[in-house]
Amino acid sequence: MAVLELHGVKKSYGSGHKKVDALKETHFLADRGELIAIIGPSGSGKSTFLSIVGGLLSPTSGDVMINGNNLTVSNEKERSKIRLKEIGFVLQASNLVPFLSVSNQLKLLDKVKNGNLSKAERDQLYEDLDIAGLLKKYPSDLSGGQRQRVAIAKALYSNPSIILADEPTASLDSDRAYEVMSLFKKITKQKKTTTIVVTHDIRLIDYCDRVFNMTDGVLLAVEREDKRIQIAGKSH
Ligand code: ADP
Ligand code: MG
Repeated sequence: MAVLELHGVKKSYGSGHKKVDALKETHFLADRGELIAIIGPSGSGKSTFLSIVGGLLSPTSGDVMINGNNLTVSNEKERSKIRLKEIGFVLQASNLVPFLSVSNQLKLLDKVKNGNLSKAERDQLYEDLDIAGLLKKYPSDLSGGQRQRVAIAKALYSNPSIILADEPTASLDSDRAYEVMSLFKKITKQKKTTTIVVTHDIRLIDYCDRVFNMTDGVLLAVEREDKRIQIAGKSH
């Protein structure tokens, strides 16, 4: 059974002449241990896709299944339960609470997410993300890369089976962006998560097992050959 299944999923915003078909009919399957990249221009529907996968947004039609649970037919209470248990979000703006130290932001999750990490697992997470030395600091004391590592720690705190990252490297320089991507790769392989990363940065797709291109709400797989051509066409 696939961890994630989308069957005939569509999303439109608005109605009448203002109607926008942000996501055209989409079928998509993803397994454990897969790192998947989604690239595509601004406004093409990437965030819409990710929000639907994560149960933050309901599709106009179609079904989203997460570990066999149909998100689309669940009520909001069940959806948020599935979301908390199964999904870790990493957003571009790294959603840290400005007035809480790093350790307090993580402790807060113990309450919200019933802290299902053991002490040993938590220490391992801090070590993997290299944030043990940052626990007493506040977001404003952290560099962009450190902030993004803390945001990833928050996303991983509940041992999610699916990690969804919307342009997680957008605010980072190339070296930090590569670091964050190799971290996603390590977590995906070690913890066998299903990880979907939306990115503008075509150089990062080399880290990924599968790559999709979103254009005008249509999601298409990018073949390896195309991938090489696109990378070759990029000067760096
Ligand atoms: P991307 O993440 O690739 O930039 P989005 O998923 O944010 O694309 O947007 C896809 C399309 O849907 C765009 O045309 C955008 O303007 C439109 N859109 C996104 N969110 C809304 C919304 N809440 N209401 C109306 N239109 C929206
Ligand atoms: Mg977006």
